[in-house]
This record gives sequence, C-alpha cells and structure tokens, in this order.
Amino acid sequence: MVRYGQCFKSLESGYVAGPDSNRQSAAALQARFRKMLQHTKGFSHAASRGPGITDGGPGSACNTARRGMYDANAGPSQDGLKPALHELHGFFAAPVGNFNFASHIPHSILAARGHGAGMPSAACGMPATATSFAFDVVVVGASFAGAACAIAAAQRGLRVCVLERKRDPGDKLRTTGIIVKEAAEQTLLNQLPASLTRRIEEVRLYAPSLKQVTLAAPGYYFLTTDTPSVMRWLAEQLRVSGVDLRLGSAFTGCTRLAEGAQVTGWQIEGVGVARYLVGADGARSRVARCCGLGEVRRFLFGIEYEFPGARLARPGALHCFLSKRYAPGYIGWLAQNPTGVQAGLALRHDPANARVPDIDGFLLRVGVAGGLPRLLKPGPIRAGLIPCSGPVSGLARDRAILTGDAAGIVSPVTAGGIHSAWQHGWAVGAAIATHLRDGCTITPEQAAVDAAPRFRSKRVLRWAYDRLQYDWPFDLLLHTAPLRWAAERVYFHKRRC
Ligand SMILES: Cc1cc2nc3c(=O)[nH]c(=O)nc-3n(C[C@H](O)[C@H](O)[C@H](O)COP(=O)(O)OP(=O)(O)OC[C@H]3O[C@@H](n4cnc5c(N)ncnc54)[C@H](O)[C@@H]3O)c2cc1C
Repeated sequence: MVRYGQCFKSLESGYVAGPDSNRQSAAALQARFRKMLQHTKGFSHAASRGPGITDGGPGSACNTARRGMYDANAGPSQDGLKPALHELHGFFAAPVGNFNFASHIPHSILAARGHGAGMPSAACGMPATATSFAFDVVVVGASFAGAACAIAAAQRGLRVCVLERKRDPGDKLRTTGIIVKEAAEQTLLNQLPASLTRRIEEVRLYAPSLKQVTLAAPGYYFLTTDTPSVMRWLAEQLRVSGVDLRLGSAFTGCTRLAEGAQVTGWQIEGVGVARYLVGADGARSRVARCCGLGEVRRFLFGIEYEFPGARLARPGALHCFLSKRYAPGYIGWLAQNPTGVQAGLALRHDPANARVPDIDGFLLRVGVAGGLPRLLKPGPIRAGLIPCSGPVSGLARDRAILTGDAAGIVSPVTAGGIHSAWQHGWAVGAAIATHLRDGCTITPEQAAVDAAPRFRSKRVLRWAYDRLQYDWPFDLLLHTAPLRWAAERVYFHKRRC
C-alpha cells in the first residue's frame, strides 16, 4: 500500500506508485501520448509508423487509395506486397460461394504478381461486377458505436462481421464508462447485469478553491460501470445476435469496388468483400483515412487512474473539479464504480503545445476534499483523445460510413460520447438494413448524416470555454442561482433520444 500524496510522481519521470506493471503503464502512456501528438501534428503516417500493421505501407491498399494511381515506374514495393497478400488470403478464406476471383482480385494484387503493371490502381473506381459479398456490413471496432451498429444490422437479418483489434475487449480502455440515464434506460444497455453498474444520483461540483455545491435533478442518475466487464458483455451480445466477431483482428486497409461510377462495396484486407464498411474505430479512425472520409481535428485528452477496491468517502456522488491549472478546457473527476474508484482529468489538446497532464498534482490537490482514501494501490491507466468539435464533414460516402468517435459524435461540452455513439451506431446499422433489405430509397450514407447530432449550442459553449475559462468566477459564483442553474443544465439536461 502506498500513500498517494507521497508516492505519485510526475508521469514525465515515467514513474507511478505501485507495482512494476503500473510503471510500465506510465511509460506506455507516455508513448501513447507521443504517438497521438505525432498524429495530430500531421506527421507522415508512413514516416511515423512502427513495425507491424499500424499503418499501411507505401503500396498498401490504404495508401494506394489515397494516392489514387498505381505507380507504374516504381512497381509494387515489398511493403506493398505484404498487405496485398494478406488481402488475397482474405479472398480465399471468405465464404464467397460462386465468386469470380479473376474479376475481383484487385489490380494492385494482380500487379504485385506481375500482371497488368501500369494499370490503374485497384483503389479508386476499379471496374468490378461484384455479385457475391462475404458480408453485408463489416464494422471496424467493437466498442459502443460498433456494437450498436452491428447488433442493429444483425437483428434485421444482415450478415455482419465486426473487426476488433484487441483480443480482450476489456483491455486498454479509453473511457471512464459512465452511462447517462437515457442510454441506461432506452438502449440495449438497459440489459446490463446490475452487478456491472452503480447508480450515482448527484454531482458534487468543486470550484478551483475547492468550495463545493451539490447538484441533482429529480429522477436523474448516471451509471458508473465495471467497464472492462461491460465491454466483454457487449462482445457477448454481438455473438448472441449472430455477428461474426473477430477479436484480435485489426482493420489494415480496404479497396473500393465499383461498377462504372457506382461504388458497389469494399474489399477489406483479411476479410473479403462487403457491401458497406462502417468505421467505429475511435477518434483516430483508420477507416476514415483509408476511405477518404472526414477526420476529427480537435480533441480533449483524457487520462484516468483506476484504484481497484478503493472507496470514496461519499460514493453516491460524481465529484467534478473545475481547475484551469489542471484541467484547462474541461474538468477533473472522482467516481465510485462497482469495483473501485476512478480518478481522472481531461484537458484541451493543443498539438503544438501539448503537455502530459499533471494527474498526480491534481490528485494531491483534490484527493482529500473529494474523499479519496490516502492509502491506495493504483491499478491500470485509461487514456485517450476525445473529439470535441462536433461531427466531421464527410462522415459518409460511397458505402463507407463513420460513427461514434470516428465521426466526431461526442458532446463538445460534457465530452460524453457513449450515449451518442450508441444512438448513431444503431441508426446507421438500422439504415443499412432498411436500405438493403427493404429497398428504402434513403441511402444509409444520407441517414448517417441526418442522424448525427450537430451539437450547435454545445459547440458555442465549447468555443466560449476555450477562450474565457477563468478560475475566479467559479470561486466567486459557485453558490449563486445562475451558476447552479447552468451547471444543472450541463449535467442533467434531457438528452435527445
Ligand atoms: C479518458 C476518457 C474518459 C471518457 N469517459 C466517458 C464517460 O464517462 N462517459 C461517456 O459517455 N463518454 C466518455 N468518454 C468518451 C467515450 O468513451 C467515447 O465517446 C466512446 O467510447 C465512443 O465509442 P466508439 O465506439 O465510437 O469508440 P471507442 O470506444 O474509441 O472504440 C473504438 C474501438 O475500435 C477499435 N479499433 C480501433 N482501431 C481499430 C482497427 N484498426 N481495427 C480494429 N479495431 C480497431 C478499438 O480497439 C476500440 O475497441 C471518455 C473518453 C475518454 C478518452
């Protein structure tokens, strides 16, 4: 056991109190943070990629898609050959019935095997007469948006495959996992086993001076969760719904299939051909990059410590801390979940001047006031980027659709994204099914755009908070009716269902 007030050291030093695994987590966190910086600074993916398959090689389907043309002079590189062979393997592995391989093997692969060098790339506008599809929909990501989309489509009779790069869906989490009442009651999440959730009925809001006020709304509540178990439960729901869930399978690239100008589907590396491709792969969506869809550009960065087995002095409240110093652009929080305490903060992510969040300093500052026990054994760290500028433009096109964080569908004020990810993912899955099965004339692409919340007033609030955040008004006005009213609107307003 350690005394958190004494033993937390800056993440910058790479040391966090606790067992070796936690020290590694801190180092891993820094590495993750730097990787995010590289991405958001616009580094070349090819230049920054490490070994493995985290990004396509120069000749991969993904990058070829972005270039648009096969380079006849250079020919396919060795880097390009590997994903191409992977893609080919997917072709043969897929249950495609009377599939005509010759007409569907992308030209990049034929070229790699010495056929048709100098022909146009397989990526864009490849003539294809796709008549047989391995899947109606391939969804990338088995978190909230992906699960909702896949289950909605599968329940309506579509053949759905979900690719999830993690072997264990409960591993390496990037969310606190707090579920708002609307999602807890009006979505499939209402079937979560009670043991995985804990009801929180009030918010305790702390000014920077640590003055505090309790907020509540009659009948309203949040659920904190045993999030790793929730993610595993979601995976189980996918299987029960008949979805082909492939854990430990990363999406690496895809190739557009077309008949004339009409896109008919996507050839997905390692999977086969699908009529629709859905990117539910989080804030830095590879599907968006590969399909030329819009990408999220503005983020908060959230980081959280878990303290397994710990108990707050007032576990029935979500403790939220305003502080320009520790959480510029957002807040810090302490929450009791079914298995312990989560303590985190999020701040505006400025790629040009990014800093590692000072969560240790934050806990030293607020721990006692928030009722965090002093003797603690820190557990895993959760961290990640949170989109905060509203839905991306170019959210869906040519049978490729983004949803959830990949589409930027996160409240720019509360940074809550689970409810909106679920709603939008579900709408996308249902729209694809209605289109393919019932011949609905509204395209799923249009339905996806229409279903995306615009967050207009929240984007205005985000703009104002980014520019006008000061500590003194909160210290001065915390107990006044207007501030209380505004805070209750933020936490307890009725969310669109
Ligand atoms: C620290 C933090 C705390 C948060 N707390 C809350 C909260 O309490 N309440 C709330 O409502 N929102 C919260 N959010 C936001 C919320 O977590 C997200 O909005 C929500 O998880 C979005 O779900 P998603 O399915 O779109 O994406 P994600 O949850 O990001 O899931 C993306 C999935 O895609 C997978 N994936 C990624 N790339 C690939 C690939 N190439 N191949 C295969 N699979 C891939 C990932 O492994 C992951 O499983 C928080 C965010 C952060 C960062």
